[in-house]
Amino acid sequence: MKRVLLSIVAVLIGVGGVSAQEVKNVIYLIGDGMGLSSVSMMMVESGYETTIFDEADNVALQKTYSADNRITDSAASGTALATGYKTNNTYLGCTPDGKAVESLMDVAKRAGKATGVVVTTYLQHATPAAFYAHTQSRHNYEIITQQLVNSQIDVAIGGGMEYFRKVYGEEVREHVGGAGFTLAEEFSSVEQANGDSRLLALLADWEVGSNSGSYLADATREALRLLECRGGEEGFVLMVEGSLIDGMGHANDAKAQQAEMQGFMEAIEVAVAYAKEHDDTLVVVTSDHETGGLSIVSADANFNLSEQGVEYRWTTQGHSGVMIPIYLYGTGNEKINGIVENTDIAKRLMELID
Ligand SMILES: [Zn+2]
Repeated sequence: MKRVLLSIVAVLIGVGGVSAQEVKNVIYLIGDGMGLSSVSMMMVESGYETTIFDEADNVALQKTYSADNRITDSAASGTALATGYKTNNTYLGCTPDGKAVESLMDVAKRAGKATGVVVTTYLQHATPAAFYAHTQSRHNYEIITQQLVNSQIDVAIGGGMEYFRKVYGEEVREHVGGAGFTLAEEFSSVEQANGDSRLLALLADWEVGSNSGSYLADATREALRLLECRGGEEGFVLMVEGSLIDGMGHANDAKAQQAEMQGFMEAIEVAVAYAKEHDDTLVVVTSDHETGGLSIVSADANFNLSEQGVEYRWTTQGHSGVMIPIYLYGTGNEKINGIVENTDIAKRLMELID
């Protein structure tokens, strides 16, 4: 009888147009330094062909300011995106008074889910570290390295071997092995991993590198495979960062930023394809802040004439304070709406998976 009632309720909810589908998996993609102008630049460059951004089921906007600055850095914004708390610039995983706070990954673990981070920079960099570390300085790389080893992250793929050597000397493999991690130093070892143990892939001494082609998409695909094994029925949360979009904004280099955006978009395509095949998956794509103050202007001051070409102009070598787009795909895409704080994304995701 109970079962019959439940199915009637399920049917009624379905008829009401409200999705009864639970969010089992979350793929959270963060383009570090990716502003709306970076996205627009890719649209201009593609001749307004349909990009993966155009395919979003829903979009929203977020305000990025930190607790102590209208212009955020990647530590404070990473903390907001990972934990739902505004903090001071340079702080990771803690409030302005230094209190450590839980991240989306901790909530996922409590719900029995597997967790992963995939980046193009080193794994100790601000954005990934916000998901597992707690320190008042993003530059405490050796402490952050130890916090990664002692974290509950199941799959970590990126660079950063040099900091591991600084902490563990020649015995990196033994030390991370003691924490249950299999160490991969080549991408082929990632492909051979079967998900039986946690995986730490340190593919470079520092960052994996700019203009790394299909690396981010390939690493995302492998992480999804491994997390599916480790999360089983409970699912997973995966954070993927297009880390170096930011650096090319700092360098005011439009061509180089396009290459980083291209790599990031291919990773989004992998995530969205996964969500299409698994209807219990939510994909959230956003950024921590805009970098470079990029503007797209007419090459001719008289834009009343027909097209004379466009120019990409930068207004700072730092970050800017413009709102950042959020693109949502798949189950639960309607749960983040309108203009929100950067902290609202993590809060909403935590509610959805808890
Ligand atoms: Zn930056």
